[in-house]
Amino acid sequence: MIYDPLISRGVSSMLPAPDSYWHATHKVPTLPPLNKKVNSEYLVIGGGYTGLSAAITLAQAKQDVTLLDANSLGFGCAGRNGGFILSGSGRLSLSAIEDKWGRGIAKAMQGEFDGAVHLLKQRIADFNMQVDVVEGPYLKLAHNLKQAKQLCASAKHLATHFNVPSTLLSKTELTARLNIEGTHGGVELKGACLHPLKLVSEYARVAKELGATLFFDSPAIRIEKSNKGYLVTTPSGSVSAKHILIATNAYTPKRFHDSVDHKQFPVQSSIFVTAPMSHEQRERSGLTTPMSFMDTRMMKYYYRVLPDGRLLFGGRGAVQGKDANRASEKQRLYRAMLNSFPSLSGITMDYFWSGWVSVSLDSMPRIFVDDQPSGNNASRFRGNIGYAMGYCGSGVSFAAFAGQRLAQRMMGTSDIDLSLPLYRSPLKTYPFAKARRLALHSLYQWAKIAER
Ligand SMILES: Cc1cc2nc3c(=O)[nH]c(=O)nc-3n(C[C@H](O)[C@H](O)[C@H](O)COP(=O)(O)OP(=O)(O)OC[C@H]3O[C@@H](n4cnc5c(N)ncnc54)[C@H](O)[C@@H]3O)c2cc1C
Repeated sequence: MIYDPLISRGVSSMLPAPDSYWHATHKVPTLPPLNKKVNSEYLVIGGGYTGLSAAITLAQAKQDVTLLDANSLGFGCAGRNGGFILSGSGRLSLSAIEDKWGRGIAKAMQGEFDGAVHLLKQRIADFNMQVDVVEGPYLKLAHNLKQAKQLCASAKHLATHFNVPSTLLSKTELTARLNIEGTHGGVELKGACLHPLKLVSEYARVAKELGATLFFDSPAIRIEKSNKGYLVTTPSGSVSAKHILIATNAYTPKRFHDSVDHKQFPVQSSIFVTAPMSHEQRERSGLTTPMSFMDTRMMKYYYRVLPDGRLLFGGRGAVQGKDANRASEKQRLYRAMLNSFPSLSGITMDYFWSGWVSVSLDSMPRIFVDDQPSGNNASRFRGNIGYAMGYCGSGVSFAAFAGQRLAQRMMGTSDIDLSLPLYRSPLKTYPFAKARRLALHSLYQWAKIAER
């Protein structure tokens, strides 16, 4: 059974945990389901990085906070991602943000993105989180000559105007280091990766220690307004809360709440992990130490050498959830790996899984609070509702930052610059929402030709 946000009715507690390398190497703690009626000042719906980080922020501010998740810890992206710690979110580069809104906004956005990485590192240190952080080079690789030139120009621009240091690598320099095919140059930056499932376990531990009440295997199935704020119902309980923070991201059910319905597009990304590479395979491929990669394709491939010498390789997944585990999907990704590293021919695929990333219509994530209730009950209504989502596949550091910002916005306690594109407007609604899959299918067909 595979959850498909545009087809299924919602995440059920009966769905199995993902069959990921992360789940094979870490056992998540079991957290209790909700079997009663609860009152809480704040209710967070969704217990991935966004939701748990919001709960941590609220608990640190001594607020009364309850969190519900529909399944087990790490059921969503938190247990399925590649573990790359990236500065950035959404699909717009700093240069694209600069082109659209000017350098001042781009610098302020860089502050938010870097702030996310800083928050992650700070929490790892402050709460002694054991998440297997591994530092090593992060290489951006150009898949054709045009992209090599653009990558080079962009690296120079970022170094000059945004103080992002990087080293340019010519095709010759790259092939001297790696036995890699189909690459026309690249840029090396400082990189770091972690064990994403351990991270969500550690966030849950910290949230609990700080006083948040967590319930898992408890899907929110209805959100209704009440005199006190909201009443949220689960299959065997309910939470009455003044404020609701929606942190369900790409796993949001297709009909959930007006504020998020049709506001994002869940798109699948898939990952496989090989058997440990032999000494000879590592020497021949050049993948000798932990390092991470991303290419410049529109449908990017991303890969990293894991601490135990396996290669994790990811890219776009199937259009429909039901096709996620098809042999053809696995073969497509495996072939992409072999196109880059022919010397790994024959290596076994030990794990394969997929997850949903949340794509916003304008490629910009949003952290938004609707504190202007309307309708007949407006005068009596005292609560507000907000959400953080649309990270477009980049959220290991940013989701937790977004959760913190969402909680701060709800409490009205922070000096957030609400004029930034992240905060100043709600997510745009997808027009022709039902045609999203058709459009995605066409895009994949087109990309196949364009990216040859
Ligand atoms: C294959 C893949 C690879 C990725 N690789 C990277 C990477 O290397 N680096 C990076 O920065 N980002 C990566 N990402 C993106 C990153 O994982 C996400 O942006 C991030 O985990 C989002 O966190 P979240 O807490 O918002 O959502 P999630 O972790 O998806 O959590 C959402 C939660 O909501 C719960 N939920 C849904 N409906 C309900 C309901 N009705 N009631 C209660 N709970 C509900 C779900 O059970 C789930 O636990 C990747 C994503 C995928 C899928």
